[in-house]
Amino acid sequence: MLKALKEQVLEANLALPKSGLVTLTWGNVSGIDENRELMVIKPSGVAYDQLKRDDLVVLRVQDGEIVEGTLRPSSDTPAHRVLYQAFTNIGGIVHTHSPWATAWAQAGLPLPMLGTTHADFARGPIPCTRDLDEAEVTIDFEAHTGLSIVQVLERDQYQDIPAVLVKGHGPFCWGKDAMGAVTQAIILEEVAKIAHRTLALNPGAVLNPAIADRHFSRKHGPKAYYGQAPETSD
Ligand SMILES: [Zn+2]
Repeated sequence: MLKALKEQVLEANLALPKSGLVTLTWGNVSGIDENRELMVIKPSGVAYDQLKRDDLVVLRVQDGEIVEGTLRPSSDTPAHRVLYQAFTNIGGIVHTHSPWATAWAQAGLPLPMLGTTHADFARGPIPCTRDLDEAEVTIDFEAHTGLSIVQVLERDQYQDIPAVLVKGHGPFCWGKDAMGAVTQAIILEEVAKIAHRTLALNPGAVLNPAIADRHFSRKHGPKAYYGQAPETSD
């Protein structure tokens, strides 16, 4: 079942250690099927170099019921399910503890938009979630983590802001499919690193807002003109 989606999700998971975003097993990628009923996710605690297509877990987005796979799904699965239910245009989700993005998450700070590398990627700062209260941590912790991500964005803003920092934890990123989400996670990590260095050099650095808007809209939306039609990148 879902052979092609499993291949995509396997390839995307294997791209995480290759791109330097994960250490040990700290990260996971999922993808959702085109009917938005089933999702495929990495099993919990399996080393990337041991990961095989049939280790991936298929489960129902609505209630988390496992429909295929013998291993336990990633412990972050409830957060992925919440995001798929709220963000109805996304096809893949990545969670990592990549160090530069995680440093901002641990500082509890949104990632400010300081240059065009960021403006090409997201329309505005990358938000950081609030602290969860004691009840949210005690009961359904991972689902509440997902809800805190949804709450920090305005309605439909997820389409222009492809990542959120979970306070004290790390980034969640999303894209049109599993590999698209990995690409966003790679960009986020670079943007987080550059922002840290920018503020070390000049704590008052700001990006001209007209440039920010121009950069985002030339790559995204109806007036996009960056790259070669219909879609490419460089
Ligand atoms: Zn984590």
